[in-house]
Amino acid sequence: MTQGKTVLVTGSTSGIGLGIAEAFAGAGANVVINGFGDAEAAKQAVQKAGAAHGIRVVYHGADLSKPAEIEDLIRFAEKEFGRVDILVNNAGIQHVAPVEDFPVEKWDAIIALNLTSAFHTTRLVLPAQKAANWGRIINIASTHGLVASAQKSAYVAAKHGLVGFTKTVALETATTGVTVNAIAPGWVLTPLVQKQIDARKAKDGLSEEDAERELLGEKQPSLQFTTPEQLGALALFLASDAADNVRGVTWQVDGGWTAQ
Ligand code: NAD
Repeated sequence: MTQGKTVLVTGSTSGIGLGIAEAFAGAGANVVINGFGDAEAAKQAVQKAGAAHGIRVVYHGADLSKPAEIEDLIRFAEKEFGRVDILVNNAGIQHVAPVEDFPVEKWDAIIALNLTSAFHTTRLVLPAQKAANWGRIINIASTHGLVASAQKSAYVAAKHGLVGFTKTVALETATTGVTVNAIAPGWVLTPLVQKQIDARKAKDGLSEEDAERELLGEKQPSLQFTTPEQLGALALFLASDAADNVRGVTWQVDGGWTAQ
């Protein structure tokens, strides 16, 4: 039941986070959005998705690689709405390079955002969720939380870490009304993946269509991108009463990638 609840989706100015924020708004939740880029456009899109319910959408531009800004974000959300009922840890970045050439500052930035930020948001929202005996924490991991690909050492390490973190906090909350789960998307056509398609186009002289086909063909047997809408629908299920006893899972939406 998400009607009237408050959801915080990190990194929700774009891609998957925006899709999840719109899904919750469409189900009647108030939304705290966060991220860089065009915040106003994202805010309007989420507001529109929730228009039928008269929800409220607010934005905070915390840089989630900075613990002090994360604290500020959570305090802001609490001031606006009282409590973060549903936390979606979604903000993430990618960098692709062999490990011996991996820029040290990129490694640090990926671990800080893709893994450590979820520790901070979780530790900060959990006391109020436990006091209310209801809460949902949904971590956007990746197939790369379960299997690896070359050249993605920091991302794969962070996402495997996030899957482990999900299980640990699910155990710590197992007898409460707070559930903690992860979603592991395969390829989703967002700016994060478009960069990798553009790199293939530049390297091999491929068309957009051929680069997409090659990218999908290597990993994703369905040969179709997962969509932010599909991930939003799964997040809504994990937040529903039907998912009360779903705890510590990592649910793939990957067109068969990890079935191989
Ligand atoms: P995206 O680039 O479209 O969106 C990333 C979001 O994070 C944006 O809102 C951006 O502004 C925000 N962000 C970036 N750095 C930030 C920071 N320091 N502080 C706060 N916000 C920040 O990417 P996406 O593809 O939608 O990815 C969202 C999540 O889904 C990531 O965790 C990513 O690892 C994961 N994921 C993506 C795919 C995919 O194929 N696109 C697959 C599996 C998992």
